[in-house]
Amino acid sequence: MRASDLLHPRPEGLYCPPGDFFIDPVRPVNRALITHGHSDHARSGHRSVLATRQTLDIMGLRYGEDFAGATQPARLGETIVINGVSVSFHPAGHVLGSAQISVEHQGMRIVASGDYKRRKDATCAPFEPIQCDVFITEATFGLPVFRHPPDTDEIARLLKSAAQFPERSHLVGAYALGKAQRVMRLLRDAGYDRPLYIHGALARLSEYYQSQGVDLGMLEPATVEGGKQDFAGAIVVGPPSAFADRWARRFPDPISCFASGWMRIRQRAKQGGVELPLIISDHADWDELTATIKETGAEEIWVTHGREEALVRWCELEGIAARPLHLVGYEDEGD
Ligand SMILES: [Zn+2]
Repeated sequence: MRASDLLHPRPEGLYCPPGDFFIDPVRPVNRALITHGHSDHARSGHRSVLATRQTLDIMGLRYGEDFAGATQPARLGETIVINGVSVSFHPAGHVLGSAQISVEHQGMRIVASGDYKRRKDATCAPFEPIQCDVFITEATFGLPVFRHPPDTDEIARLLKSAAQFPERSHLVGAYALGKAQRVMRLLRDAGYDRPLYIHGALARLSEYYQSQGVDLGMLEPATVEGGKQDFAGAIVVGPPSAFADRWARRFPDPISCFASGWMRIRQRAKQGGVELPLIISDHADWDELTATIKETGAEEIWVTHGREEALVRWCELEGIAARPLHLVGYEDEGD
């Protein structure tokens, strides 16, 4: 069987004809297999959803308990047969619950990795390379210019700034699922033991992380009751969208920080009015992408959502067949 007979793009998403299911569909479908809870991959309204227990829980928190007609939890490493096609979920190291999905039929194995990273992250299970015939890789940071620095260095810069300006508050923009909890966990690992103040949009997901054994320490709501001086010297974490609205104006002389892989691009930080850019990404950088491609042993690479061309070219130079997979509707909620 040809790989494209086992999985190929459709307007709804990546489709498996023999199994009659979609992976991370962007429109409601009968049967969806979902890699992780970011909103561009996990949508509500499918008739049935197969995903890890944590991804199902996260979807329930974000969309309400009735986000799908039926749900089935996939245990990591367990094989589930759907219409004769064997599927299994394996950790992707991206956010809590994130998984790569292996699809196997008649001797052909394709691994759809969703979003992934290779850096150590205390808030989720580490990526496991899976041997396969075709590896589908993301390419969010698929250019050689993207090499993420150690996250501990970035957190050290934040703590240094907080120590330098004890009368000011530090507002850290971080995506509500994954990045925010990772930043908080990194602060704890760096020895920061004061309360962290969080925007309401982070409360339930952060609580869920804590319930899953990810210790984030003392979290307090970033509410205004006591007046501005309450937040002098505080580190406040909120979703990036909150920084443009009135919410951000309640803090004393705030220093605007943003935790994202895009902060590598100085221009982007400047345009966003970010004073302290923190280069912390939940996606693989160039070196991680290329190392992972080699580790999977795949003879063919399909590249999706991001900078497909450079990674396709790199594969060709390495003698690995590669092509861009034109999927639409993915716009990195958690970069
Ligand atoms: Zn993601």
